[in-house]
Amino acid sequence: MFIGGRWVDSEDAATLDVVNPANQEVLARIPKASREDARKAIDAASEAARVAAKLPAHERSRILLKVASMLEQNSQEMVETIAKNVGKPVADAAVETARAVLVLTFAAEEAKRITGQTIPLDSQPFPPGNQNRLAFTIREPVGVVGAISPFNFPLNLLMHKVAPAIAAGNSVVAKPPSEGPLPALMIAKLFEQAGLPDGVLNIVVGPGETVGDEIVISEKVNAISFTGGSETGKEISQKAARTNKKVILELGGHNPMIVLDDANLEAAVSSAVSSTFTFSGQVCTATRRIILSEKLRSKFMASFDQAVAGLKVGNPLEQTTNVGPVISRKSLDKIEGLVEDAKSKGAVARKGGNRLVSEEYSRGNYFAPTVLDEVEGDMKIANSEVFGPVAAVMKASKEEEFVDAANSTTYGLQASIYTSDLAKGIKLAKEIKAGAVLINDRTTLRWDNAPFGGVKMSGMGREGVSYAIAELTDLKFIVVNLG
Ligand code: NAP
Repeated sequence: MFIGGRWVDSEDAATLDVVNPANQEVLARIPKASREDARKAIDAASEAARVAAKLPAHERSRILLKVASMLEQNSQEMVETIAKNVGKPVADAAVETARAVLVLTFAAEEAKRITGQTIPLDSQPFPPGNQNRLAFTIREPVGVVGAISPFNFPLNLLMHKVAPAIAAGNSVVAKPPSEGPLPALMIAKLFEQAGLPDGVLNIVVGPGETVGDEIVISEKVNAISFTGGSETGKEISQKAARTNKKVILELGGHNPMIVLDDANLEAAVSSAVSSTFTFSGQVCTATRRIILSEKLRSKFMASFDQAVAGLKVGNPLEQTTNVGPVISRKSLDKIEGLVEDAKSKGAVARKGGNRLVSEEYSRGNYFAPTVLDEVEGDMKIANSEVFGPVAAVMKASKEEEFVDAANSTTYGLQASIYTSDLAKGIKLAKEIKAGAVLINDRTTLRWDNAPFGGVKMSGMGREGVSYAIAELTDLKFIVVNLG
């Protein structure tokens, strides 16, 4: 663990085995933090908050740029660590690493642009004397940011919290996922080498229910930036309310892809494959439901089946692998349960539909790329986030059916619409309840400097470097009476 600028063991010497989901090999044995360790990390961050707030913007920017540059130099090691730790194919892990370099670079730039504005008080006649008052706002760091992140982008989703927090002059207590902690520990070393003052970044790995919980309930933590499941997020939000701290929640999704009659078939099929099966569907923005026009149906399905059959399932360390394992046996069980429920209610598995048990895959957590057709709203898979390599295909004909189907879940993260009629696409986009709608593009797309976040059970607040900085700062209003 990295606490107060030192690498330390846990208070009670407990350890955690980090396992490769592709073969169950133990990759590392690391300290497993207790609630007491979390308190120490919070204390260290709390003491360092003043130091962080006083670091000038050029220094915060220099450190972030230095980390970006060191990460770029060490990217091969990071890519392999991500691939082994969470089973992400190396091609995707390389994209994640390159994006983390970008996030750090954007944060270094934004650190120098954090600014307020002057407010023309003389636009109102009272109280008298406003023409003699100078008023302006400044943005101040909130103090200590608790950053809790999930396994699926173990580097970049943590960077989306840590880099803006530090850019804004905060200190951080980070709790990476128990199943994917190694990238976070690696990046902490780079912050240390870049000269970040002691205690400005602290990393404790341990169970969410104790270590995460302590960060959420602590009076010394001023904001929680959480990415993870919607149920966890709801619980965190309720607990954080007791100390009235700011909460930014980036939660689950059930992202619909609408394919209208006039869609470009080739583009739609390619998007459906990529956004359903990338990282075995373990992406919050993955396409969970393909809502398909009746008219295009047979052509789309023939082409989709063929593309899915061509996906290469295998070892995440191989460049050509498209689909690797899922994170855990528990996750495999959940995916299997949702697929079985759908099949029992009439869905048809055109491809896959089962876990892979042959000798080649049995030691890993592999589920076959699955195409479930004839999915209906009463099946669990139509409403629960499957977090696995499963496409659920539904049908619609009229415009309002597409919109109703898209809006039928409790989630609202991203959606996509495939059509060659831009006006129709924009009209539907306005009716869909989601944080983002992509017309003729994939649900999985996210740009690291653009606003990102969900509505309904998909979250609140926005990330995307400058947007995260706005969330992790307080606006202060200052008035000077010149009279
Ligand atoms: P998760 O089980 O909710 O865990 C996320 C993090 O929260 C982990 O670090 C976990 O620690 C911690 N945690 C668990 N219970 C906690 C508690 N009671 N208090 C404080 N922290 C707690 O999610 P996951 O399975 O890792 O990730 C998958 C989910 O994340 C999916 O629903 C996905 O859609 C969502 N996600 C959303 C976004 C987005 O930007 N909207 C991006 C990626 C993923 P442990 O690891 O120790 O349990």
